[in-house]
Amino acid sequence: MYHLFKRIFKLLVPKRWLTVIEPYLRNLASIPYVGNEYQCNLCNFRMSQFVKKANGQLLCPRCGSLPRTRRLFHVLTTQFDLINKTVLHFSPQKSLSSRLNQFDLKHYITADFAGEFKALKKIDITAIEEIDSSFDLIICYHILEHVEQDVKALRELFRVLKIGGSVLIQTPFKEGEIYENSKIVEPKDRLRHFGQKDHVRIYSVKGLVSRLELTGFTVDVMTWNSPDSNFHGFKARETVLLATKAS
Ligand SMILES: [Zn+2]
Repeated sequence: MYHLFKRIFKLLVPKRWLTVIEPYLRNLASIPYVGNEYQCNLCNFRMSQFVKKANGQLLCPRCGSLPRTRRLFHVLTTQFDLINKTVLHFSPQKSLSSRLNQFDLKHYITADFAGEFKALKKIDITAIEEIDSSFDLIICYHILEHVEQDVKALRELFRVLKIGGSVLIQTPFKEGEIYENSKIVEPKDRLRHFGQKDHVRIYSVKGLVSRLELTGFTVDVMTWNSPDSNFHGFKARETVLLATKAS
């Protein structure tokens, strides 16, 4: 039902209007899902079920949030004190950035490079146009696996962090070593080798921790349990690297 609704509106409504009326369309599209079995922790919509995407991920019909975004919001609000903090957020899903904009942050800078996300600034993660020691927290979810010069990006993240500040990093992970090959550049080959046509490697936890430590970070591999994960439609455990610029 949700997917049909979305397809019809994409066909009928000009793209420039879609972003303006999207909240109203989402309100309408989510009506059949109203219920009490589950709740989106981002927009608080209560529903009989989440929308199941073709890849199996559970989407909130009201705000469009993905499981990893809802889990990230849970982590941010239970593990971090965000009040009066400066936060840099790469490629933010709109459902999350609009919630974080309501928080009492000192500065909240959203950044996008490829024009895929609505953001305040266009920022190349390998050449961040911000002064040294600017941020208390950087959110870097599903970014590094797209970046060819990832070590350069890690150095930039380290540079713009304040002493004692942290980067939250998540990417797809595999066991063993990092798998990368700079000769694999065609989208179809990248899809076959790295799982997505715009991915340039698959990290292992061990490999990424090592690159972060070589850059100067202190790294904790976190899983942060949540007893309400099923109710909120996300995984109870998910690996996230917390890389800190130690004092
Ligand atoms: Zn929601």
